[in-house]
Amino acid sequence: MRRKIIVGNWKMNHDLAETEMFLVDLKKQVFPENVEVMIAPPFTSLNHTFRSLREHPVTIVAQNMHQSIEGAFTGEISAKMLKSVGATTVIIGHSERRTYFNENSAVLAEKVNTALENEMNVIFCIGEELDDRKKDNHFQQIKSQILEGLFHLPNDAWDNVTIAYEPVWAIGTGETASAEQAQEMHQYIRKIIAENYSDKIADSILILYGGSVKPENAAEIFGQPDVDGGLIGGASLQVEDFMKIVNAFE
Ligand code: 13P
Repeated sequence: MRRKIIVGNWKMNHDLAETEMFLVDLKKQVFPENVEVMIAPPFTSLNHTFRSLREHPVTIVAQNMHQSIEGAFTGEISAKMLKSVGATTVIIGHSERRTYFNENSAVLAEKVNTALENEMNVIFCIGEELDDRKKDNHFQQIKSQILEGLFHLPNDAWDNVTIAYEPVWAIGTGETASAEQAQEMHQYIRKIIAENYSDKIADSILILYGGSVKPENAAEIFGQPDVDGGLIGGASLQVEDFMKIVNAFE
């Protein structure tokens, strides 16, 4: 039986005061025992979130990091810095990073390596564009992203990797993949991992779905056998909706 995870990816939302308002409310909540709750605030709120939630079972996640551990990279943040403010996990390869910041597969593979070498867990995002799906090229696209980003890893690295399948056409659009489309892709991801590594790794890796998950559709998506949780954008910004999604597993 795999663990269940819900990650709130705030993206570039919530300044420090808004973060504090969210946390005051979040700390009143009780989480279901089978669900691990994670929050990915912007860098400026990471340490405050970590300190505030010290007594609470919430994992602190960073939204991005640089592939080097230190140096002359103005405006960048390293794994070492993220760890020092309480983040244990980092999102790598989000489609917004790939699209708006030109992060290509080679850079993403480097980031994965740096995170793992520095004992951070990785949530690695993959997802096809609408055009790929229309041309029936979505499986091939997902395969390439996994191959280029993760298939250089040794067997034992997979314990610290979670995959998030986020079809780009479903992010922030209000359009979700159907539960069947999500299941089909998650099953496919497990299949290629089994072919390249082992059934054991394929069965144990956690695969999250992301893309317009809302309180109304969460239970159906999370009900799929190969969906182990969600990476939630817009609906993670308010505690009420976020908690409805966290509780959708029950
Ligand atoms: P939305 O839930 O706002 O569609 O965002 C999904 C996402 O990109 C999470 O990383």
